[in-house]
Amino acid sequence: MVYAPSACREIGREFPDCSVCRKPGREAQRAAWGCDEPAVEPVFGVTCSSCGGDGCAECGDTGSITFNTCPRLALRARPDILDTMRAYQTFNERHVLPEAGGTRDQPSAMLRAFDLIDDERAAIERERDNYRLQAATAAKGPKR
Ligand SMILES: [Zn+2]
Ligand SMILES: [Zn+2]
Repeated sequence: MVYAPSACREIGREFPDCSVCRKPGREAQRAAWGCDEPAVEPVFGVTCSSCGGDGCAECGDTGSITFNTCPRLALRARPDILDTMRAYQTFNERHVLPEAGGTRDQPSAMLRAFDLIDDERAAIERERDNYRLQAATAAKGPKR
């Protein structure tokens, strides 16, 4: 997914990209990213959907839910989520909804999922903007 890299930056890791890990000699990379089976350390995280990142019992007050597998493996276990993300992408890029009719004719669970994806994208974009701002400030050097 395009939106995940900043979630990885949050835990100080390179984004698990399966076009990289499938190259020969990347067995250690695959193990660290949890491409074949869950890794020892968390691989990526997303904002907790229960509290929106504020911290709650569900996320252990961290505000984020982490996964010990690469996004591809995590999604393979949840084809329903993958379908929803594809539907979101189609809606976002081509303005086509999965079911006939308007917004009110769509399943409410799916619309809620779209809202969550929007929230996560916004969080990732904020994080990216902060990152760019910090990089630009650092490039200017210390203030006089
Ligand atoms: Zn992989
Ligand atoms: Zn939470």
